[in-house]
Amino acid sequence: MNPVAKTTRRVLTRRGVVWLGQTCNLRCRFCYFQTRIEAKDHPEHPFMSLEKATSIVDTLRNHYGNSAIDIQGGEPTIYPGIEKLCAHCAEIGLLPTLITNAVALNKREACQGLKDAGVRDLLVSVHGLGKNYDDVVGVPGAHKRQMAALDHCVAVGMPVRFNCVLTNSSLPHLSAVAELAKSVGARVVNFIAFNPFEDQQKGERSREDVAAYSEVAPPLVAALDILNAAGVEANVRYFPLCQVPEAYRRNLYNFQQLPYDLHEWDYASWSWTDMKPQRMRDGGLSPLISLRQANFRSPMFRADPDYLTRGDISGEDEYRHSALIRAREHCGYKYAPACDACGAKGICDGFHGDYAAFFGFGEARPIAADSPVDDPRHYIGSQEKIVEPEDAGWAL
Ligand code: SF4
Repeated sequence: MNPVAKTTRRVLTRRGVVWLGQTCNLRCRFCYFQTRIEAKDHPEHPFMSLEKATSIVDTLRNHYGNSAIDIQGGEPTIYPGIEKLCAHCAEIGLLPTLITNAVALNKREACQGLKDAGVRDLLVSVHGLGKNYDDVVGVPGAHKRQMAALDHCVAVGMPVRFNCVLTNSSLPHLSAVAELAKSVGARVVNFIAFNPFEDQQKGERSREDVAAYSEVAPPLVAALDILNAAGVEANVRYFPLCQVPEAYRRNLYNFQQLPYDLHEWDYASWSWTDMKPQRMRDGGLSPLISLRQANFRSPMFRADPDYLTRGDISGEDEYRHSALIRAREHCGYKYAPACDACGAKGICDGFHGDYAAFFGFGEARPIAADSPVDDPRHYIGSQEKIVEPEDAGWAL
């Protein structure tokens, strides 16, 4: 595998994302696209043509200047033409990652084919282990196939990173997932709070799957200890900053911190690919939109008639504004009454939108600070993050 460097320098990500269609070979209980995966007649269900996907990735490279891309399905490894799409991305300088459950890569030649097509790495969804994993993804034997795929990745030299969603079912496995990451040489592990995003905003979430923050924190911290000690980059997405001891806040990424993670998505291009026409098989593409224009669609910034032309708003400000829109308007995050006394409120998203209905706001623990923290990089600035060799020229 290529050597990677590490840095505490924080720069804005240049990674885009494309959704090929919500067609999948698993049925994860916590999937953000659960309804669209199940409904074959949903306009976002079928895979789009290779031609349309190619137009989208060309736009990400040529208009938005992205240099990497996360390719998602549904499940991208079962997309007909995935190798052609990846080869095209690699050729135009948009280094491809597949966000995948990897169960279809239980044959070594499938893994080798992606490697030969120029896939830079796989972001493998490891939401638990053994029968527990099979139960949560709804397919018997899925864990065994995923483990075979990871073996093939090691054998063919395909770098991997892990995603793990923090549900009740995965919590007992977090340390084992961390150990697995060590054993297969995963470069990064992302723990992702179970969010009320997309289809999960439609009443699908229940106490059966959603864990309280105070239930998540102990096994999460234990897993972070394993990864931090092993030098594996570990990130926790969408978790209130006060819910872990201060030493672990460098690992926490709320919406304001995400643009400083090189493996996360560029809010500018994401604002465009997130539009329905770019997520459906049928129809053409939307007109291009800048991040400032996307922000101006929100009531939060539309109230300022000069927003589009103001010279005192920097590029980083635009990303921060987008973060506020995503947390407050798109995902309905809320602050507890106690958050008003918190020194980190300015860089924290607060609690998930439906969280108080499950558990109340009693877990909020305002962070003491001499003066309010206002830099999103305040905690993450001390985290060592990896930089792939291809990004060294601008990210180190
Ligand atoms: S703003 Fe609220 S949720 Fe966030 S760290 Fe402070 S007390 Fe916790």
